[in-house]
Amino acid sequence: MRPPEVDRVAASKAAVAARRARAAVKNAVVEGTRSASDVVQAGLADQSSAEGGLRVRELMLCLQGLGPVRVDRTLQQLGISPSKRIGGLGRHQQPKLLEYLDSRERRATGAADAAADAAADAAGSLDSASARGRATAVTPTRLVVLAGPTAVGKGTVSTYIRENYPDVRLSVSATTRSPRPGEVDGVSYYFVTDAEFDRMVAEGEFLEWAVVHNQSRYGTPRSPVQQALDAGKSVLLEIDIQGARQVRASMPEAVLVFLLPPTWEELVRRLIGRGTESSEEQARRLATAKVELAAQDEFDYRVVNSKVEDAAREVVDLMNIS
Ligand code: 5GP
Repeated sequence: MRPPEVDRVAASKAAVAARRARAAVKNAVVEGTRSASDVVQAGLADQSSAEGGLRVRELMLCLQGLGPVRVDRTLQQLGISPSKRIGGLGRHQQPKLLEYLDSRERRATGAADAAADAAADAAGSLDSASARGRATAVTPTRLVVLAGPTAVGKGTVSTYIRENYPDVRLSVSATTRSPRPGEVDGVSYYFVTDAEFDRMVAEGEFLEWAVVHNQSRYGTPRSPVQQALDAGKSVLLEIDIQGARQVRASMPEAVLVFLLPPTWEELVRRLIGRGTESSEEQARRLATAKVELAAQDEFDYRVVNSKVEDAAREVVDLMNIS
């Protein structure tokens, strides 16, 4: 049954007002005067509010550095349909989305504080909240940690980044393992003796270090990373999961990326296919990989390494530098 004319006019007026209200919410997020998590909280508290009626996808598109492809991928990872409105989020979806937004905001705020002051100066008549929002939006992520299970291709992805993205500094680790054929001291690793590694540990020269595969020690020399960060460069660490946890503890602003294989079978194939380790060593690495895969939820982002160039691009995208 058709509603009376007067109701139709009222309904259409209400729809226009609701659209306007949602647009105002989005503008506030784009300008940085309101955080996305604040919008989600408001939408959950009152489903009939402008925030409650806003689609999650539209909200995420307001965030700096997130294009439609990454928004859709993130929504998929969070298990949220693109048409879902904030007010309609399910019990399990709510904390997942809030956690995702909070961790983005925590990282952006920490890194952006210094830039915000400069932006506030430059902005002149702008109020400082909006200046802070702008600074947050443009500040690149400086320190990215790439971890993941053994043989997932971290080395290949980081080598690809070194060769194709000159703006990214790759940290060169020290290790006590022997060089493999083709590896160059000072480029692949600093190959050091046990005694030298002991000395570096004792003198606090490592940002993090770990025994990997119960065998050799690997560590990230602190000062080159600090120097690059001080010079405003973006730095990539390709390290194991124990190391990633240490970096998170000492540098919470770091972004942690977990590289995933397309499937477990593919991971096994890559591990065996490398052929550089004995079968005993392969079995040990496979066991480690299983434990490592279980740690993926501790990470900020997950990137599937189906194609090296795509995975590399995704990692570099997180740095917001190109
Ligand atoms: P590979 O011996 O195959 O070169 O490396 C073995 C593992 O050590 C890889 O998972 C690699 O990510 C990790 N690794 C390399 N450098 C470091 C480092 O500086 N610190 C930590 N914690 N792990 C590292």
